Amino acid sequence: MASDSATDLTISIDLTTSVKEAEYDDEKERDSQFKTANDIFNCIMCGECCNGFGGTYVKNEDIERISAFIHCDSAEFRAKFCNKSGSKLVLSQSENGKCIFFDSEKQCTIHPVKPRMCRNWPFILTIISHPENWNAMADSCSGMKKNIPYETLRRIVSEKIKRQETD
Ligand code: SF4
Ligand code: SF4
Repeated sequence: MASDSATDLTISIDLTTSVKEAEYDDEKERDSQFKTANDIFNCIMCGECCNGFGGTYVKNEDIERISAFIHCDSAEFRAKFCNKSGSKLVLSQSENGKCIFFDSEKQCTIHPVKPRMCRNWPFILTIISHPENWNAMADSCSGMKKNIPYETLRRIVSEKIKRQETD
């Protein structure tokens, strides 16, 4: 009987090891598919993120760039195109709830100078500490691939954020 238990234990350990090895191989296989930011995100220009959920925050540097692009004074820009959200400024919305700079045909009409928040999406800092948020974000953004291994996600997002900082 004692030897049967030992055999059972050996089989059980072997099975557990095999399952773990298979999971590891699977993870490595998936990891090898995702090397750069383009492997996990490609904007399909659906405009869903311009719906204004939570607001598009604009910082002074955004305001300066956009004001220059649309040939308006930055004070005028704040008055005409921004609203307050707490202590911060967000782009105002059209009656249809879309961002004021969204056009159903042209999409983002300030694309070359759109706010950093829009340019950086979906490579945001919080993903490094909470990679599980990626799949939730992907529910409303069809350009994001789901089920990326967390370590891969952390690596790609970190690399992308470093590049964004020097842009
Ligand atoms: S929701 Fe995603 S895919 Fe659609 S426009 Fe926005 S970033 Fe691009
Ligand atoms: S600035 Fe452009 S990309 Fe950003 S929410 Fe507005 S329309 Fe969309």
